[in-house]
Amino acid sequence: MTVRSSFLLVVLALGLLQGCKKTKEPPMAALRPNVVVITVDTLRADRLGCYGFEAARTPHIDRLSAEGVRVEHAIAATPITLPSHSTIFTGLYPPAHGVRDNGRYRLPDEVETLAERFKSAGYRTQAFVSAMVLHRRYNLSQGFDGYDDQLRREGEPAMFMIQERSGERTMDRVLKWLETALAPPKDRAPFFLWVHLFDPHQPYAPPAEDAKVSPTLYDGEIASADRQVGRLIEELRKRGVLDDTVVTFTSDHGESLGEHGEATHALFIYESTIRVPLIFRYPPKLPARKTYEGSVRSVDLMPTVLGLASLPPNDTQGVDLSDALAGTVEPPSLAPYSESLHGQLEFAMAPLFGIRSKEWTYIRAPRAELYNRAQDPAETKNLLEAHENEAAKLDELVTKVREDSKRFGLVADANPLDAETVEMLEALGYMNESDAPEGLEGMDPKDGVRAFDEIDRARMLAHEGDYAGAKKVLESLLEWVPKNASARNLLALCEFRMNDPGAAKQLYLQSLAHEPRQPEVLRQLGRIELADGNSHAARERFLQSLKVDPADVEAMILVAYLDLKEARPEEAKRWYERAIETDPSYPDAYLQYGDFYFRQGDFRQAKSWYDRGLQVQPESFVGVLQAGTSALRLGDPAAAERYFQRATQIDPGSWKPLYNLACVQMRQGNPESAVTYLRKAVAGGFSDSALLQRDPCFAALHTDPRFVALFGR
Ligand SMILES: [Zn+2]
Repeated sequence: MTVRSSFLLVVLALGLLQGCKKTKEPPMAALRPNVVVITVDTLRADRLGCYGFEAARTPHIDRLSAEGVRVEHAIAATPITLPSHSTIFTGLYPPAHGVRDNGRYRLPDEVETLAERFKSAGYRTQAFVSAMVLHRRYNLSQGFDGYDDQLRREGEPAMFMIQERSGERTMDRVLKWLETALAPPKDRAPFFLWVHLFDPHQPYAPPAEDAKVSPTLYDGEIASADRQVGRLIEELRKRGVLDDTVVTFTSDHGESLGEHGEATHALFIYESTIRVPLIFRYPPKLPARKTYEGSVRSVDLMPTVLGLASLPPNDTQGVDLSDALAGTVEPPSLAPYSESLHGQLEFAMAPLFGIRSKEWTYIRAPRAELYNRAQDPAETKNLLEAHENEAAKLDELVTKVREDSKRFGLVADANPLDAETVEMLEALGYMNESDAPEGLEGMDPKDGVRAFDEIDRARMLAHEGDYAGAKKVLESLLEWVPKNASARNLLALCEFRMNDPGAAKQLYLQSLAHEPRQPEVLRQLGRIELADGNSHAARERFLQSLKVDPADVEAMILVAYLDLKEARPEEAKRWYERAIETDPSYPDAYLQYGDFYFRQGDFRQAKSWYDRGLQVQPESFVGVLQAGTSALRLGDPAAAERYFQRATQIDPGSWKPLYNLACVQMRQGNPESAVTYLRKAVAGGFSDSALLQRDPCFAALHTDPRFVALFGR
């Protein structure tokens, strides 16, 4: 959003991107529709009922399709979540916006996003995402007034898989937001809403009701996501605003499900992971029950959505297809480009670049591929030798897209190391390894797919708790790809879980030798030192992590913890405040800052920080409980009661809020109901009779026979 001055100079001098950043909006149209974009992650088009899958349980998406235009051949730019979404929301291919993989890149500020366009047109803008790979730190949040990426749930360690939030939890929050967004007055600005659901991504663990009726667990996850999509659409319908809303439904990529030897997605660019569903619904401009036969690229989404909302396009690599979708003009012939650099970035294999014509799929690789999709939709018979001219023509188109991308001149921030950090890591001996060639250097991903699949398999085993099984897979994989940081980190985590922190430490250090820019590895090393009682070494690691990533809020909280432990409260305070300033969406910082004041007996400050944490994470059990306890200490049992009641709703199985409610009742002079709550607490697992005797809250009850009888005979 902030235009770097050097960038601005280039733009002014060369006029290359004129109008790219700040496109002039026309005078406000009389009717400005709401705009909703739904992306369901990892969703193969051919697993939906409306795309012909008979065993599908997707009635809501099918209905959306029946009420609008369904695109038969929609092609994602890359089978990887962050770069693919970056393309959807910028109209630029990955070589133009610069984001080539998850985690390693951040969308440049200079790019103009769909959300920024709607915001500058006076829209209210809001996003809800369901996976860590779309966290605001990767900067797809630009242009959104609100960006809900609060995924973490207490007591839910998800160390082996991408942190995610269930579609149900995400949609609960969406519907709550919608209530306010649609509240009167009626002439409020329209909204642009993006909802991202992650359920079909592995691990495939659908609710039992969906698993039961679906042919596979993957399909069960899709059924589950479909129900959540239905909640949103039906709410809009019920409120009478659906027909005045431009609804776009799509996915960022599909799932291989074993095709071409790939279990999941990210490495290859065949139809199984590149073809996605795409549905537009907007009755004022689009017909119902229409199948659009032309190809649509994900770069076309942004100009098309703007077109449907009657806003002018900006400079992208896509085209506005709203008239073609409406049927008033012929569908243009478009050749979708796709790429995957994942094999290259992860294993030093060769990158893949592909292009699709109406008939053909061409993939540029060490062993290039050409498929005739009309005769061979599964893309299994390589016809390159028989059709070299066709392949050469398509290869030229690949070059053209890559050349065209250069005019945008955007380079994603790949967080390069500064000289000081390199020095710091060298001093630790991490970077002294020789640059021996990697085992898979330049290899065709077709030959290296096993490495990719083995990491997936090990991750699943570890996720299921089979650490020894995962270890076996990873050790044999590392003989093949000794420099692979993902495999080594995963193995380290398995060793740690199997109570061998020494082995974990060695593996993490080796991992840093190959890839020094890994804050999470430095943090893990710090945690191991902490568990070993080496506070000094632990602090060093956390500070190193902060050097690599100055926005590492987890490291800040850990340093604050050490400062507290070493009786430096003022330093701890500064770290908490820095963490909160760096990432206001990180709930732990507020909660621990609350604890800080609670320990000092400043319950007013404590409660105010707990309350702020609860704004970020309303379902924080610990936060609600602590806020309630603070209220009680402040002499406000009525407020405390509300917090504890809320805690019983968050975790109905816990005795803690019941115990605290008993205390509230005592403060309010109701020993009768206090005993009732205590009975419930005991039934819920509370068994510490000594605590009960000690707790001054219950002093007045000590001689009461009902109190004495609480723990039976
Ligand atoms: Zn994805």
